Amino acid sequence: MAVYHSEKEFLRSLKRFNALSSQQYEWHTGVSEKEHECAFGHRIPAENLYFKKPLDMEGERKVRVCRECMEKLVFITIDSDRHSKQLSERLFRERHPAQKKILKTVMR
Ligand SMILES: [Zn+2]
Repeated sequence: MAVYHSEKEFLRSLKRFNALSSQQYEWHTGVSEKEHECAFGHRIPAENLYFKKPLDMEGERKVRVCRECMEKLVFITIDSDRHSKQLSERLFRERHPAQKKILKTVMR
C-alpha cells in the first residue's frame, strides 16, 4: 500500500522529516550490493532502494529502513496531523531559507 500519491509528495515530506534530525544524522537513500534488514524486520533485497541514517559520528552504526516502512514512518510523523505538519515545515524553513528571500536580500 503506497502512502503517498507521488514520489514528489513523499520526497517533500521526507525533507521535512529530516529537519527533525541534526544535519549529520539525516536520512539518506541507499542501494547496496548486499542484502540488509529493515529496522522493522523486513528483508531489503540487494539492489533495492532503502533509507539509512547514521547512529554515530563515524557512520559505523547505521539504521536501515525499507522504502515501504520509510513512507509510513514519514507519514505518521509528519503528515498525520496539522501540528506536526506545520512544525516540521517551520524547522525545514529554518534550515533551508526560501530561495526568494535570499534573492531579495542580494538585490536590495
Ligand atoms: Zn520495512
